[in-house]
Amino acid sequence: MFRNLAKNTVFYENARMPSPKHILTFPEHLQRIAEGVYLWDTHAEKGRWGEANCVLLVSGASAALIDTPYDEAMTRALQAAAAKVLPPGTSIDTVINTHPNGDHTFGNAYFPDARIITSATNARHLCHEPAPADMHRLVTGSDPGTPLGWYAREKFGHYKYTDLTVTPPTHTFHGNLGVKVGSMGVQLIEVGPAHTAGDVVAWIEPGAVAVAGDVVFQGEHPAHWHGPLSHVVAAVDAILKLNPQVIIPGHGRPMSAAEVQAHRGYLTDLESLIHRHHREGREAYEAACRIIDSGFHADLGSAERIAIVTAVEYADLDGLQRPGAVALAEHAARFAWERREPVAA
Ligand SMILES: [Zn+2]
Repeated sequence: MFRNLAKNTVFYENARMPSPKHILTFPEHLQRIAEGVYLWDTHAEKGRWGEANCVLLVSGASAALIDTPYDEAMTRALQAAAAKVLPPGTSIDTVINTHPNGDHTFGNAYFPDARIITSATNARHLCHEPAPADMHRLVTGSDPGTPLGWYAREKFGHYKYTDLTVTPPTHTFHGNLGVKVGSMGVQLIEVGPAHTAGDVVAWIEPGAVAVAGDVVFQGEHPAHWHGPLSHVVAAVDAILKLNPQVIIPGHGRPMSAAEVQAHRGYLTDLESLIHRHHREGREAYEAACRIIDSGFHADLGSAERIAIVTAVEYADLDGLQRPGAVALAEHAARFAWERREPVAA
């Protein structure tokens, strides 16, 4: 790995398909959202995976981080950006995970002295998530001539999953938990199952900021692994009920309550479309293709994720066990593979 410190850009020497998408540029500065609330927004362009938001809370000599980045290089870049706003002698002593997906938790390992808090349901489901070693095998050991092998390299090949250990929470809770960060009160509210089984939203009342995790996506079609969509809508309603000024989604830029209300409309429209195709007897994959090809929210990135959400919704409608993350990713990979740009000889 080579690091250009001036630009804070990381190049991975083992990337199999060198191309601009394998160069990650991380923000050097946090964005101030409210008093003591800062966002590290890594979302650079549409169609990418793993660039999740991290939110730093600072009060007095205490600091908390909501969600951690996807690999070591990303986490080190975040820590460097955070150091610019932390008062001297202050370190991040608390980590909060909104849900157990790797792009929100793998960086936990680089905060060895922090207490790590999440819902008990999230902690229980940590073992169902693909571990770093699974991701490494997927991006290096799978067949690049298959949809999943190709997609894994395209979307995840630029992360470094070796030398990463899953670091579980040190504190868990059921329902709600009040956390103090210096003099700042933070309410953790369990709103899952929605995106995952035990999603947590962080509510910072003084600034009226809701940190939504992946219950809300901005700029991209969401991938919801647990569902069904009615649960995601209920989780969005729980956020809106807080009357937030600013909602920080799991991915994308901060949103207003009106924008999140519009996103709720996206979810209920998608739910109606999927249910109609199901009633009309179509297979899940065909339903997803038809929804995407109809131009459903074509301005958003990662349209192939509709195939994931559709497969999850169908499993619920059919009373079947929902497929695991890799099996679900195969649905998205198949769509992206079938529609990929032909490679010039
Ligand atoms: Zn995410």
